[in-house]
Amino acid sequence: MDKQSIYDLTFDQLTDWIVDHGQQRFRAQQVWDWIYKKRVTQFLQMKNVNKECIHLLEKNFYIHSLEEEIKQESRDGTIKFLFKLADGNLIETVLMRFNYGLSVCVTTQVGCNIGCTFCASGLLTKSRDLSAGEIVEQIMKVQAHLDEQGKGERVSHIVVMGIGEPFDNFNNVMDFLYIVNDDQGLNIGARHITVSTSGLAHKIYDFADTGIQANLAISIHAPNNELRTKIMKINRAFPIEKLMEAIHYYLEQTNRRITYEYIMLKDVNDHQKEALQLAELLSDHRHLAYVNLIPYNAVDEHDHYKRSETKSIQAFHETLKQQGINNGVRWEQGADIDAACGQLRSKQIS
Ligand code: SAH
Ligand code: SF4
Repeated sequence: MDKQSIYDLTFDQLTDWIVDHGQQRFRAQQVWDWIYKKRVTQFLQMKNVNKECIHLLEKNFYIHSLEEEIKQESRDGTIKFLFKLADGNLIETVLMRFNYGLSVCVTTQVGCNIGCTFCASGLLTKSRDLSAGEIVEQIMKVQAHLDEQGKGERVSHIVVMGIGEPFDNFNNVMDFLYIVNDDQGLNIGARHITVSTSGLAHKIYDFADTGIQANLAISIHAPNNELRTKIMKINRAFPIEKLMEAIHYYLEQTNRRITYEYIMLKDVNDHQKEALQLAELLSDHRHLAYVNLIPYNAVDEHDHYKRSETKSIQAFHETLKQQGINNGVRWEQGADIDAACGQLRSKQIS
């Protein structure tokens, strides 16, 4: 049997595995502690674990699979990692510094099948989903980089906004969330984690039903079906009405604020009429809605789109505000190092 990544397992799965293999239950706690608290890179380093258990683990699992290909540091402290997976595929992970902490943006798939017309990731169709372990290991690698710096810094926030559509890899993404959230392990608070979806409505119901306290972000990008379909093919399968039904279910179940991402494309979706329409769309839950206006990051291959002018972004922001919709502009980080999702990877591949 092929070995599996130890990072694939949630704590409960690890416990079951250990018990099923004739070891005492408390070993799971010890192993978990070595992996996520002491962050060892070899099973042999787990000093208080018995030889037999270590041998079993070594036979069935590995700890490492990602190789760091490139690490680029931006002037603003943003670090972009390009990792090679065991099968040679490349993925990106980004570490960003904010006044509230250190946030990591993780990739969930190799490529993306949603094919949004403005996105570098969508240029390369999905070749496979990442395993839970491959998503967890991105965090571990970034944390290892911080550990090496010796300043005691910790990854405190996660955004699931890298390459891929997280809800198209739902089960692995959920296991990833449970693993990093585990309070005996990395202990990254669910409230500090945000999952962004292009709007797979049926999965929004599932996400609400899990009861996890993580934040949800919806890539809305346009306030009506005609425009949204032009920008995002996925709108044909899940038009705005279906999306809003799912969102209302999510709001009823969780009462949690939703972030709407709105990418500002010059002369495409940045007029006052779209701002008014967007405000109207969100008006029935404006106390639980926050709009993030994202100035478009130019992608070489999509030269038909341009970033909205600053004055259009300001005007859009003001119109939403006047309509009672909380919103802000997200000026990008790491602009000098291709920090927009998928850009570094697509350059390496081409
Ligand atoms: N697939 C998910 C999560 C990954 S994309 C989703 O689409 O929500 C994360 C965010 O980055 C999305 O809101 C996406 O629209 C945005 N994005 C993609 N390409 C971009 C670009 N070139 N400039 C700015 N934002 C971009
Ligand atoms: Fe996929 Fe998100 Fe890019 Fe759309 S924006 S192609 S869903 S990664």
